[in-house]
Amino acid sequence: MQACPECGDQVQIGQSARLNEIVDCAGCRSELEIVALDPVVLALAPEVEEDWGE
Ligand SMILES: [Zn+2]
Repeated sequence: MQACPECGDQVQIGQSARLNEIVDCAGCRSELEIVALDPVVLALAPEVEEDWGE
């Protein structure tokens, strides 16, 4: 379990978690990227803005 950097909620990290995997925080719905393993470090994933206009 890791603390969400956004809201501090506990986020479950699976044993098979991989670097750069995106996990969702159940507390704030943020997308968190695993930026380091052993120990696991979570960072807010950059928001991908869908740009449909052109
Ligand atoms: Zn959160």
